[in-house]
Amino acid sequence: MKKTILREYARLIVRCGVNVQKGQDVIVYADLDQPEFVKMVVEEAYKAKARKVTVEWNYPELQKLHVRYQSVKTLGTVEPWQEARQEHFCQTLPARIHLESADPDGLKGINMEKVTKARQMSYPILKPYLDRRENRDQWCIAAVPGEAWAKKVFPGMRTSTAVEKLWEAILFTSRVTEDPIQAWEEHNADLAKRCEYLNSLKIRSLHYTAANGTDLTVGMMDAGRWCGGRDKSLQGIAFNANIPTEECFISPKKGMAEGIVYATKPLSYRGQLIEDFSIRFENGKAVEVHARTGEELLKSMISMDEGAAYLGECALVPQKSPISESGILFYNTLFDENAACHLALGVGYADTIEGYQNMTLEECRSMGLNDSMIHEDFMIGCDSMNIDAVCADGRMVAIFRNGNWAF
Ligand code: ZN
Ligand code: ZN
Repeated sequence: MKKTILREYARLIVRCGVNVQKGQDVIVYADLDQPEFVKMVVEEAYKAKARKVTVEWNYPELQKLHVRYQSVKTLGTVEPWQEARQEHFCQTLPARIHLESADPDGLKGINMEKVTKARQMSYPILKPYLDRRENRDQWCIAAVPGEAWAKKVFPGMRTSTAVEKLWEAILFTSRVTEDPIQAWEEHNADLAKRCEYLNSLKIRSLHYTAANGTDLTVGMMDAGRWCGGRDKSLQGIAFNANIPTEECFISPKKGMAEGIVYATKPLSYRGQLIEDFSIRFENGKAVEVHARTGEELLKSMISMDEGAAYLGECALVPQKSPISESGILFYNTLFDENAACHLALGVGYADTIEGYQNMTLEECRSMGLNDSMIHEDFMIGCDSMNIDAVCADGRMVAIFRNGNWAF
């Protein structure tokens, strides 16, 4: 890929993605796949006047070794220095850039029981720090091609060709055109307008139906607020948490979901694939799951903690988005979630509650915002999906018809 275009992309992530502020610290989380690009991101962050940029390199093969050789206790222990680091992040609020590139099936065969137990041990220690940073810092997830990932998306191609093709797909769907920052201005404005309309309806529940058998009703919080595109931290800094993004989303009310929903794309969870699955909800809770592949994994996912079996997000994405028009199955949630309507199991987003700025997280949760250590999107949208809203005034309004916006 041409360096000038990659430079534009790096700039987009730094300026429009996390919107680095003068004097702010930045952390970049990256795998070993695209060191040249990581360097560009770091340089752009410095050009945006970052104080200090730190890169956290990740190599999934090492993760596998750690899980194999460390005891659950060691894996799950948060060392004092790690806690001190979390405290430091709470004080300094660095901007976080996550560059995804890993093989979506790269952790296959890992001992999930061990991973789950370790996570259940460490999470309660880390949780207070995460809560303290919630909605206060800017973050952005974007992607770069890794070789194994590219080969999975474009099987049968030479590695270098597959990587180049995946670059093209990432840059196309991320609107890295002649003037990406301008393109994102327009895109953000369009999403904001859609959210404004959805919010004006005061939706109390959504009813999803599709030819594959999906028939699900999800209730909304009275103070729920649709969000999409540009976000704003409590410090007042605008940022885009996902590049790309096509969704208008909201956190539904915990305890109000009835019916069955069929996934329309595979889900990569913790580096392993779950395919062709369905989830049945009763009183908001996932009570029955089936999957052609990865059923045990799906079951362990929804039993990570109490909130893991409840919904944390309803997102509306038309079939006419650049990602679904590309026709590519990315095996990566960042892309696939922006190609289809989706739901997420696990923690909800407080910023989808009106007036959350003046509420504690506890208050948000008492209004029906779900809490969990997981947040896993899964795709349910398809060409035959219809969605109808019941509004506060009793009106029924068509939101989606045949997979696209009805308004
Ligand atoms: Zn989403
Ligand atoms: Zn999500």
